[in-house]
This record gives sequence, structure tokens and C-alpha cells, in this order.
Amino acid sequence: MKKTIKTDEIYEVVKQAYAETRNLKGGKNADYIPFLDKIDPNLFGIAVCLPSGEIIEAGDTDYVFGIESISKVHTAILILQQYGAEKVMQQIGADATGLPFNSILAILMENDHPSTPLVNAGAISADSMVKPLGNPEEKWKAIVENMTDLCGSELKLLDELYQSESETNYNNRAIAWLLKSYNRIYDDPQMSLDLYTRHCSMGVTTKQLAIAGCTIANRGKNPITGKQVFEESLMPNIVSLIASVGFYEHTGDWIYTSGIPAKTGVGGGVMGTLPGVFGIAAFAPPLDEAGNSVKAQAAIKYIAREIGVNVFSGDSIEIIK
Ligand code: GLN
Repeated sequence: MKKTIKTDEIYEVVKQAYAETRNLKGGKNADYIPFLDKIDPNLFGIAVCLPSGEIIEAGDTDYVFGIESISKVHTAILILQQYGAEKVMQQIGADATGLPFNSILAILMENDHPSTPLVNAGAISADSMVKPLGNPEEKWKAIVENMTDLCGSELKLLDELYQSESETNYNNRAIAWLLKSYNRIYDDPQMSLDLYTRHCSMGVTTKQLAIAGCTIANRGKNPITGKQVFEESLMPNIVSLIASVGFYEHTGDWIYTSGIPAKTGVGGGVMGTLPGVFGIAAFAPPLDEAGNSVKAQAAIKYIAREIGVNVFSGDSIEIIK
């Protein structure tokens, strides 16, 4: 079906979603990274970014929080750009694990395969692939530049979060070395893990995530800067990765009930992307047991349902003034 949605309607629905979901109880801050446990659990922001560059927002959309696993999407895009879709498939894979984000069992079960760049194992493997190999400074530069390009403005490293996570990431250290033993780390394992920990510790705002989500939805063209960040033809690969594993072991439930391909992070952020239509993001620190923000999920579902968009609907959506 052809559907026309007025921008004013989106403003109205975002306002309602904020009012309806802001007092939702349930969930708790991630505490396995001590820094995240200290963040005010009442913070809450929602933002929608349209391909025209218009941003519709409510709440704490300029608050800077830890991007965490959402940055796995950024790194996946970088290696897709550097290597192409086929090589990423061969070296990492694109399979949902159905297991928690930091699962070691998933690596063993997949017969040495990191599964997808959107779980910890695949993301560390992806960081090892970032070019130029063997040069941590230049690799980091490429990662930061790509994040900036996707989000439309600079992100700053949250030093305290980086420290906190580096001191406590024993499970991820085990993953890096296990992958090394399977020849699934393509550069120095310690360096790859450090790059991973660092980009997870980047500070981001809800607004920047909505812009990144829209850059993906807009076939790689950032709606704010106009820069073509990745090749158009990669959009379906990127969206399929997000749709198949964005919420880890709850991904099926999420996509079935929301219709919005989205990626979460234990910092409380969720970044959604609806191809050709918009980018959407929400942030609230309390998480469910799979590490996904309770309020952010509720807000995004509310908006998708009320404005009637769903990636599986077959509708062609036009947003008008
Ligand atoms: N950096 C976090 C970790 O590796 C990211 C996890 C997440 O956001 N789901 O544990």
C-alpha cells in the first residue's frame, strides 16, 4: 500500500510516546561495567531523523551516554566498506546466535565462527579486520572518522567508561583469545580487543544515533552533512545484520512486535533504521535481562505502531510536510 505520513503527525506521536512511556518502571542499569551503574536511571530521550534532515525529539536527547554495542554497527559498516559484503561473510558471518551478546558458547557451537559482527565475538573480529592492519593509531582513526561520518558530528571518548570497562572485561578477553586460537582474529588480539572496548566507550547522544540510523535508512547518505558514508548497495546487508541480531536472544520477539530493525547497547541506547523512511533512537539506562533498554523499546514500538510503519508491511511510505 502507498502511505503518506505528515511530519506534524510524527511530532505529535513522538510527544505522546514520551508522555506515555516516561514513567514506565522495570529494568535496571547495567552493573557489570561499574560506570554504567552510576548513570541517572531517569534519563530518557527519543529522536526521529528524517531523510530531509529534520529532527523530531523529546526529552534528554543531548545527554551524552556510552554507545556500547550500538558501535558494533558502525564497525560492521567500516569493514563492509573496506572489504565488501562477501569477504565479511567469509571472515565473520551474518548469523543470529540466539544467545547473549557475550556468549562463548555461541562461538563453540558455530564451529569456530564469530557468527555476526553485531555480537561481541564478531565485533572484536571486525575490529581486527579494520585497515590498515598492524597500526592501532590509524585503525582507531578510521573507526572514529567512520563513527563521526555516520552520526554527522564528533563523538568523544568517555574516559571513565573506557577505564571501567577495560578493568572488568575478562569475558571479552577470553573471547579474543578463543577467536585467536581459531584463526578468526586477523590482527593482534589484544589490540583488537582494546579497539573494541574503546569504541564501545564513545559518548553519543540520542540525536546522533537517530542521525546514524537515518544515514543507514538513507542508503548511506548522511541527512545532515550530505556525505555519502557507505556505498548504497551495502544498505540491505547492514539492515539485515541489524534485523537478525540487534536484540541478541530477544531479537525475534523484538522484530515481530516492533517491525523496526534496531540495535541496542547496554548504555541504554537503541538505534533503529527503517529503510527509505527514517532513523529513530531512544535512550534510557534501565535494561531488561538481555541488556536492552526497557523504556527505549517501549517508545520505539509506540511510535512505529501509532504512525503505522513496519519494515515487513510492504508499504511504500512517503513523508510530507
Ligand atoms: N562493551 C559491552 C560489552 O562488551 C557492550 C555490550 C552491549 O552493549 N550489549 O560487554
